[in-house]
Amino acid sequence: MDMLIGGKHISSDDLEEVINPYNDEVIDTVPIAHRQTADLAIDEANKAKSALVEMSAFKVSNKLFNVVEKLKDNREDFAELLTLEVGKPINESLVELDRSIETLKLAAEEAKRIYGESVPLDAGLNGKGFFAFTQRLPLGVVAAITPFNYPLNLTIHKIAPAIACKNTVIIKPPTEAPLTVMKFAELLNDEFPDGVVNTITGYGSEVGDYLVCSPNVDKISFTGSITTGMMISQKAGMKKVTLELGGNDPMVVLKDADIEKAVKGVINGAFLNAGQVCMGVKRIIIEEEIADEFAEKLVSETEKLVMGNPLDKTTTLGTLISKKAAMQVEETVNNAVEDGAKILTGGVRRDAFYEATVIDNVKPDMDLVVRETFGPVAPIIRVNGLDEAIEVANGTEYGLQAGVFTNDYSKAMRCVQEIEAGTVFVNKQSTFRTDNMPFGGFKSSGVGKEGIKYSVEEMTKTKLIGLNLR
Ligand code: NAP
Repeated sequence: MDMLIGGKHISSDDLEEVINPYNDEVIDTVPIAHRQTADLAIDEANKAKSALVEMSAFKVSNKLFNVVEKLKDNREDFAELLTLEVGKPINESLVELDRSIETLKLAAEEAKRIYGESVPLDAGLNGKGFFAFTQRLPLGVVAAITPFNYPLNLTIHKIAPAIACKNTVIIKPPTEAPLTVMKFAELLNDEFPDGVVNTITGYGSEVGDYLVCSPNVDKISFTGSITTGMMISQKAGMKKVTLELGGNDPMVVLKDADIEKAVKGVINGAFLNAGQVCMGVKRIIIEEEIADEFAEKLVSETEKLVMGNPLDKTTTLGTLISKKAAMQVEETVNNAVEDGAKILTGGVRRDAFYEATVIDNVKPDMDLVVRETFGPVAPIIRVNGLDEAIEVANGTEYGLQAGVFTNDYSKAMRCVQEIEAGTVFVNKQSTFRTDNMPFGGFKSSGVGKEGIKYSVEEMTKTKLIGLNLR
């Protein structure tokens, strides 16, 4: 598939194969662009700014709604392509499509709500006699750099609000799974002037870095790992940056919790998309008194998952993004076992598959839980009491989301107040998001918020206009 720059299809002498991780077959190739092509994309996006700004909010909104309809019409085709390139079960891809449609719809609605406010300058010294108001203006060119795990919805979370508030966009999709996003960009491009939507493929370390450093890009909206996010924040200079980074989300299960509910939360939270979810349940922090019963029930439910061809509707556990990624998970789990952790079920890799794994006796200082393990692993950390649970929950550099299971509201409130995370759910696992809610982590998990209305705030600048009526 070619890149889309300034409304034209552009290729390159260098191509990269996009591989289906389930059977190693080549799905397609994409160009490996270099700096010159990145410059072209930046130029075209800058040239298209005025055409977009001249469009009324009414028109922008309608055009986004048109894309909603087109995406609905092509839902199954997009979901199949997503499954082929990511290896996620087809039912999960269909859910990603439904969420993408919803995200786009929210942006189409928000396009009509880009409000300023009147400002009472007379509340300040010497401010009497003025009439003042603010306008929210587009930043200009937004570069969206996105990861492989939810490539479509996470890209729409950036480009749809960006366009809703009249920014042009350059999309740098993940090299391992660029196709669904590139196909979606074509739908958007059909509705908007040439250059409003551009895609550039190539290595993040080259073209991604070039976009980050360019003085002619006004905002970087990045989702991906902490390592890349840190680099971006150091290099972006004066431009605005939003960073949605890795997570290592705790699920705290207290002794009075509904155990069945908590087990279900782990099944939905630790194994979804083969555990490759930023807000996945990555640490189960449980009071010793109920840990045996919980572990037994969790193993029994985990063993019901069906690992197989991701295109098969009965499959509930697909592959990881690559064999290399599965090998990394295997190595991390094996190291934990060497240090005293105990696998209760799973623990076996086959090519890019890694079995759904429950691992007990995990200590908070093991690599498995100190860093984000991006695979289908449910590590159980046993603790004594609420104080220790909160201390362990806060004991990493991450702070994306968290879930607490308890029926005691005073304990729930302590967790809500003391766990350092962008979201804390009570009696729900961290792996839950609606596309309108403010989403974004504390600590090293990120800077800024997404969720359409919140993204619009991060993708506009405020101008104050003051009329001297004295
Ligand atoms: P990644 O390696 O950081 O890559 C993300 C994107 O950044 C890719 O498009 C990549 O391009 C590009 N990139 C790489 N190096 C770059 C550089 N020096 N400058 C600019 N761009 C660069 O992340 P990933 O492995 O794809 O995704 C998994 C991570 O994302 C996990 O940590 C997960 O928790 C996190 N994540 C966070 C959220 C959230 O909302 N907080 C959501 C989903 C995922 P290439 O593909 O060409 O390398």
